[in-house]
Parts: sequence; structure tokens; C-alpha cells
Amino acid sequence: MPARWLERGETLAVELPRNLSCAVCGGGGCDACGRAGAITLRPKGEPAVPLEVTLPRLEPEALRAQSAIVLRIPGQGGPPEPGSNGVRGLLLLKVTASDEPDPSVRVISVPSVRAPEPKEARTPLSPRERLQVALAIALAVVFFVLYLSLR
Ligand SMILES: [Zn+2]
Repeated sequence: MPARWLERGETLAVELPRNLSCAVCGGGGCDACGRAGAITLRPKGEPAVPLEVTLPRLEPEALRAQSAIVLRIPGQGGPPEPGSNGVRGLLLLKVTASDEPDPSVRVISVPSVRAPEPKEARTPLSPRERLQVALAIALAVVFFVLYLSLR
């Protein structure tokens, strides 16, 4: 995903593949994955339910220092044994910064509420406008004085 997503700590919808590589054996086959090397998340044809993941916010320097980070997400890995009441396993999600986001990942962060535009500051009067105001007041005073003297 783009590095800026990690810098912002975006919340993403991640569409997991149907089959995940087994992290216990690295795909070689073990008891955890039933010697398959992979774990199947859902039956064939069933649509993926996007997983919501909030990225840790990383500083650009930290991003440059490591090419990938691994998020450990409990309860989202392999399904429990059929018939057992166990919880799903630990999902290891490897996040790599790149120019283009993977098609299975999209940003769902709610855009932060935009700060209201600052109220237009009252512009001070130009010298010409100040002169006009002064003249208008002076005229009003003159007419008032004239009115009083003619009464
Ligand atoms: Zn395995």
C-alpha cells in the first residue's frame, strides 16, 4: 500500500484471499494446517467479508528504516476445528509500502470533519474610504448645525 496510508494510520478494508499460507510451517505442512501448508478461510464461491484494519501510524523515517511491517490480528486467521468452539487463529498481515495499493485493499477511513472556513476577516478601510467616511460625517454635522441655526 502507499506509504502515506501508513503515515496517516488509515483504516482499511482488506479482502483476504480464500487460502492463507500457514505461518506455523511457512507452507511446508504441519499439524496446525492439517499438512496442507495453507488454511482455507471460507468455502469456494462464498464472497469475502472485508476485514477492517486500522494501520499503526508510522513516521516517514520509521517507514524508510523497514521495508515491511507485520500486523498481528487475533481471531482473524484460520478457522477453528469443525465442531469445536475454538476461536479463529492469529492472522499475520504483512504490510509493504509501494507506489500502487494492492487491489484487495482500500481505504475506508472516515474523512475527518473539515474545519470550517475562517470567517472572512473584515478588511480595514482604505485611506480613500476613510476620507469618504470623514467627509460624510462632516457633512452631516454641517447640515445638523444649519438645521439648528435655522430653527
Ligand atoms: Zn502449517
